[in-house]
Amino acid sequence: MPIFLEQPPYNPKGPDGQGWNRLSLNAHGGLWDECGLMPTNHPTLFEAMTGRQRWGTFDPCVGRGECGNCPVQQRYLTGEGGLEWPEGVPLLLARVRPWPSPPGSLSGGLTAGRSNLELHAWNGGPPLLETNWTGVLNAARQGAREGLAGATVSWCWFDQESEAFWVARFHPAGDEAHVRTTVDPAATRHELYAREDGPRLAVLTCQGACAHDAYHLRHLAADLGDRTATADQLTLPPPSLPEQLPGVPLITLSHGDKGTVLHRPQSRSYGTSTVRIDWDVPYDQGTVTALVAHTVRLTAAI
Ligand SMILES: [Zn+2]
Ligand SMILES: [Zn+2]
Repeated sequence: MPIFLEQPPYNPKGPDGQGWNRLSLNAHGGLWDECGLMPTNHPTLFEAMTGRQRWGTFDPCVGRGECGNCPVQQRYLTGEGGLEWPEGVPLLLARVRPWPSPPGSLSGGLTAGRSNLELHAWNGGPPLLETNWTGVLNAARQGAREGLAGATVSWCWFDQESEAFWVARFHPAGDEAHVRTTVDPAATRHELYAREDGPRLAVLTCQGACAHDAYHLRHLAADLGDRTATADQLTLPPPSLPEQLPGVPLITLSHGDKGTVLHRPQSRSYGTSTVRIDWDVPYDQGTVTALVAHTVRLTAAI
């Protein structure tokens, strides 16, 4: 993937074709090499996560292009400088917090377009973590070290409060989870276990297409197996399930006497699908959080 993003070639004719360099001392200014591991917004985060970086809105290179010795690349390769995920929390809500512009500045100067990220529990509350775009990029990287399973990122949206998106981590024990699938003409049934010899956690019945991959179910199983059932979660009623989630196109959710139902119309990857989930685990905060994280992973941008 491109990491060192060299500034575009200097054109001595200048932008007007009339020899701008003769007229302006700024002819050489304003451009710099950029670092493809330092995104500054959601589109460049997407580019960095998918190896499609182009020069333009990344932060400037701090290592004069010597990427092999660069601490930015070291942190990326080793998965350091990611996020300290709160235990048992598979999903965070990222809110984009623009840097304030300096007083008296009309254009915002160097802070224009710059932002930090606040990460909240999926259903709101005070921020649990603060980070920047590189922190999310490094947290998303998979397999850099033991126990770093990576994360994925949803499409972004704007609401009354800010620009926002979801960050859903993969579960470090996702590969150990076990899904027993039986196919019959009417429906496909998936039984979820966090471990092969563990208790059953839920049964998913897919009518129509299976609009998921095998790994989606393994990570849901691992999250359900590790629900931290604190006293709070046992006494509080489960949070109400939103019918739709921002940044999650088209999927609708409902919960009633007959379990939880997730409906997804036909998409580029899958046919129309209705999934009923019968929970063996209690339907509490931990279960709803795992379900919402699963729904985000199903439609992640990356
Ligand atoms: Zn660099
Ligand atoms: Zn299925």
